[in-house]
Amino acid sequence: MRIDILSVVPELLDSPLKYSIVGRAIKKGLVDIRVHNIRKHGIGTRKTVDDYCYGGDAGMVMMVEPVFKMINELKAERDYDEIIYMSPDGEQFTQGIANELSLDENIILLCGHYKGIDERIREHLITREISVGDYVLSGGEIPAAAVTDSIVRLIPGALSDETSALSDSYQDGLVSPPAYTRPAEFNGWKVPDELLSGNPKTIRAWQDDQALKRTKERRPDLLKD
Ligand code: SAH
Repeated sequence: MRIDILSVVPELLDSPLKYSIVGRAIKKGLVDIRVHNIRKHGIGTRKTVDDYCYGGDAGMVMMVEPVFKMINELKAERDYDEIIYMSPDGEQFTQGIANELSLDENIILLCGHYKGIDERIREHLITREISVGDYVLSGGEIPAAAVTDSIVRLIPGALSDETSALSDSYQDGLVSPPAYTRPAEFNGWKVPDELLSGNPKTIRAWQDDQALKRTKERRPDLLKD
C-alpha cells in the first residue's frame, strides 16, 4: 500500500511516521509513505502557497495552483483509490473507515493549513473528506497522522500479534475489555480471578461480559444497531 501525504509543513509528520508500529511497518516494506511539500509548486521566487481570502475574511487560504500541480504530479504516476482532504466538516473518522481504507492500494491525504484550501480543489479533485472530530486544529497533519496510523496497524504483518487488531475497540461494535499484566497483585489491587483461572472459556466469557458492560456504560450509542 502507498500513502502520499501533502502538506505545507511536512516536518510535522517526521516523528509520527518514524517510530513504533508505523515506523516498523515502513521499514518492513509493508507500506510506502511519502510526505510531499506542496511548497515545491509554490508561486514565484518565494514559493508562495497561500493568499488572502476573497470577501475580506481574516486568515489566509491555500491557493489552487500549487495543490493542483502537486496532485497532478502524483496522479500522472499512478491511479489513486481516494484523494482525501482532512477537514473539520468532513465525515467523522471511524474504525469502519480505517478498515475500508486499509484495503486500498494508493491514497492521497491532503493536509490543509491556515484557513483551509481554496474550495475549487475540494470541488474538482477531492474524492472524500475526513474529520477526526468536532474541533479545529491548526493543520491537517495531525489528523493525517492519526488516519495513517489507524490504517497501517491493520495491514497484515504490521502488528506482531495480528489478532490483537481484531480485539481492539470498535472492531466488533464494542469497546475493549480491561487489560492487566503482571504482577497479579500490587498494593492490594488484584487482577480479576477469571483472568488468572487459566481456563480459556472462563477468560473469554469474562472478557465478552466486560466489553458489553463497558460499552453499555460508556458508548450506549454503539449498541443501538
Ligand atoms: N477554517 C476551517 C478550519 C481550518 S483549520 C474551518 O473552520 O472549517 C486548518 C486545516 O486543518 C484544515 O484545512 C484541515 O486540513 C485541518 N483540520 C483542522 N481540524 C481538523 C479536523 N477536526 N479534522 C480534520 N482536519 C482538520
